[in-house]
Amino acid sequence: MIKTDVLVIGAGPVGIFVVHQLGLIGLKAEVVDNLDKIGGQCIELYPDKPIYDIPAVPECTGESLTKNLLEQIKPFKINFHLNERVQEVSEEKNNWKIITSKNKIFLAPNIIIAGGVGSFEPRKFPIKEAEKFENNGVFYSIKDKSYFKNKKICIFGGGDSALDWAIELSKIAKVILVHRRVEFRGVEQNVETVKKLEKEGKLKIKTPFQINSIDGQDKINAISIKNEDGNIEKIDTDCMLGFFGLIMKLGPIAEWGLNLEKKHIPVNVENFQTNKKGIFAIGDICTYPGKLKLILSGFHEGALAARACFKLARPNEKYRFEFTTTSKSMHERLGVKDK
Ligand code: FAD
Repeated sequence: MIKTDVLVIGAGPVGIFVVHQLGLIGLKAEVVDNLDKIGGQCIELYPDKPIYDIPAVPECTGESLTKNLLEQIKPFKINFHLNERVQEVSEEKNNWKIITSKNKIFLAPNIIIAGGVGSFEPRKFPIKEAEKFENNGVFYSIKDKSYFKNKKICIFGGGDSALDWAIELSKIAKVILVHRRVEFRGVEQNVETVKKLEKEGKLKIKTPFQINSIDGQDKINAISIKNEDGNIEKIDTDCMLGFFGLIMKLGPIAEWGLNLEKKHIPVNVENFQTNKKGIFAIGDICTYPGKLKLILSGFHEGALAARACFKLARPNEKYRFEFTTTSKSMHERLGVKDK
């Protein structure tokens, strides 16, 4: 069990920045995100696109904003628990008990939900049998490519993730790339590379085909794919990888007894607390009159929620407002020398 002052749900820009606000006032935090990387929508949806409305930053990309936010929280040595979804939240005396999809348990007097539009999840294969083989032959992301060495792999999808992995894994495995349309959606260079690799006999392409069924008991032995005319082909394979993009789901947040308004969490704008004491919501997931779904609004919301967390985490101490320019204790926490 991990005890902390604040458990932050979501490692998007707002979840990262609130950790800074918490760290400045001496509160410890742990961050959980369902994705395999930090940055939320900025990294998942628009890493290369320019953003023009971050205060005092005339232009940055989703990726550079994330990088700079991470640089800013470095002094606080925060643990990020990635690839884990917060599943359950329940009350335990004066604390909240939080359980993740990997059965990790946290105990904290405060939870800050910075869950954006909900957790990003991979779109999955449309056949029931795929569930049974998930992480045992059926994958939607790759954590360790050496697992696939010398294996027979079918990669499904027509975008850049499917093409990138088909190119990469064709160096170490037997790859068949399957897509439901004849045309691929990926960048021209990737499309040309897979076609070149096919010509050289380094991978196979099957279009327009979709998954039809999976054969196997404890492991996958073969799959069958079907084209638009209903013709079925059987392929011997060890595993199948699906890259069909991501969907956003509010997911378990809806089951924690919080008031909801059209999939958003209403908050008190004084401190961004929800209807539950010690549970706060900031960023895109919260709602209140006049709410703007902008990163800068989320930063402000985080600053206020962090101060409210102090009261529950340090009930016997008095919170004192201080500026970062002049506060000695903040300088100590940031590891900077007084100037
Ligand atoms: P998110 O970035 O959505 O991050 C939330 C995180 O929470 C996700 O990583 C998710 O996986 C995780 N999560 C959710 N539920 C759980 C759970 N149960 N367990 C674990 N993890 C969970 N804003 C601007 O200010 N300026 C712009 O120019 C701008 N351009 C944009 C362009 C595009 C194309 C898009 C899509 C958005 C743009 N935005 C812009 C909006 C901005 O990206 C959002 O306001 C911002 O990302 C919200 O941050 P967040 O941290 O609240 O949520």
